Amino acid sequence: MLVMKFGGTSVGSGERILHVSRIVLAHRDQQPVVVTSAMSGVTDALLELARSAALGDAAACENQLAALINRHEDAARDISPEADWTKLNQRLEVLSAMAADALAKRDGSTAASDALVSWGERLAAPLVAGALGALGQSALAWDDPIIATDEHAAPLTEATRSLAEKTLALAGGGLLVAPGFIARMPDGRITTLGRGGSDYSATLLAAALRADACWIYTDVDGLLSADPRIVERARILPVVSPQTAGRLSYSGAKVLHPLSVAPVARQGIPMRVRNTFRPDHPGTLITAHSRAQRGASQAVTGRRGLAAIALIGDGLPETPHMFRRMYQAMTRAGIESVLSAYPGAGYDPQVFVNAAQAAAALEQLAREYASERAQGQISSISIQQGLALCTLIGEELGIAALAQAQQALAAEAVMPLAQTLGPSALSFVLYERDLERAIRSIHREVIEPTWHEPAVTVSCGSVGHAPDDEEPERRFAASHS
Ligand code: ASP
Ligand code: MG
Repeated sequence: MLVMKFGGTSVGSGERILHVSRIVLAHRDQQPVVVTSAMSGVTDALLELARSAALGDAAACENQLAALINRHEDAARDISPEADWTKLNQRLEVLSAMAADALAKRDGSTAASDALVSWGERLAAPLVAGALGALGQSALAWDDPIIATDEHAAPLTEATRSLAEKTLALAGGGLLVAPGFIARMPDGRITTLGRGGSDYSATLLAAALRADACWIYTDVDGLLSADPRIVERARILPVVSPQTAGRLSYSGAKVLHPLSVAPVARQGIPMRVRNTFRPDHPGTLITAHSRAQRGASQAVTGRRGLAAIALIGDGLPETPHMFRRMYQAMTRAGIESVLSAYPGAGYDPQVFVNAAQAAAALEQLAREYASERAQGQISSISIQQGLALCTLIGEELGIAALAQAQQALAAEAVMPLAQTLGPSALSFVLYERDLERAIRSIHREVIEPTWHEPAVTVSCGSVGHAPDDEEPERRFAASHS
């Protein structure tokens, strides 16, 4: 079984949906299960609609709804004017009724917004199933979430497995087309897996169904050694380990949802990132077999929009459990820390958070340390915006990579404010304004030199229809000969 997920641009119009369906049919013998995103821009449009409803803006609601309906009706017509679109039309009516209800109640709750936003994927699924039907392949468009979560929207493996197995059985001999992004909570409410979460739904589904492979189709050729808008010479990475792929997404590469690699990695299911618009390109294979990459620096990423919050005061060494208390205070408010550091041991503990959460973090910490501030142990809590994370990612990075990365930064007069050094990622916190220079310099000085080394290279080859899980070793062996 092969889970194939298509992103928003891939299903952005009727014509594109037909193209996607042809790709699916080309892999018919691998028992595809299709996961779709909303058509490009639709999730944003639905969020706007939810906002207008909450504000009681009837005129805006009406326009936004009409535009959404047109977009899907146009796509349906382009796919096939003759096909039976009853199901799609019924769903468009449900969406309209929900929007009217939210408007009447001026309901600005997360539940109301999630319910509306869920329709992006739920409307895309019948379009994809309709296109498969127009090409002669029967397909079941599923309209309900297949991912089960707990009350905090964290996915549950076993509950998802039984939901997924039941749904797949309903598709009978046809193909299942499932909506990405949405999930069901224990109280029955629909929630989402966060922006870009369709990737995550696809890998959760692949893991639940114990699929042989999971392919994520997007609008670029795969994972790259750097953002090509910053580094022109950036290259596609033919094979990376799940650890590298996960770190790449977490530290700023936009191609995959940061959590999407974990579910398939845990089960050893190979994953591939591919380009819908170049379906013959093998893309990037993400698999645990990629030992050919050992010791090599592979990619450099940038993640913007961070802020540092620091405690300052001469009495800090007297304040026990510093980080634990900082984390606890922030966790209570749902704030995630990206990194933490003591620039001077015992002094000035810093946590780096998403800039959007910085004010909330500051407020929590001010409350947590109220008594230390009153006693003068802590003189102030500072906040510094405009920071970014620059991360060099590789497998088993050693002292040489570290020295080269630090030299590359020094050559550009970039002074990191903090760093964390691990065997597969070297992360530097720096000013946003220095980020692009840092990325270019690290790419040039650390990554590109490894391209010219006579190290083992993994050829892309042609993936054809061979099962993914046999490929890497074979290719690895072939590249030696
Ligand atoms: N449609 C959702 C979004 O735009 C999820 C996804 O496409 O992955 O964020
Ligand atoms: Mg995406």
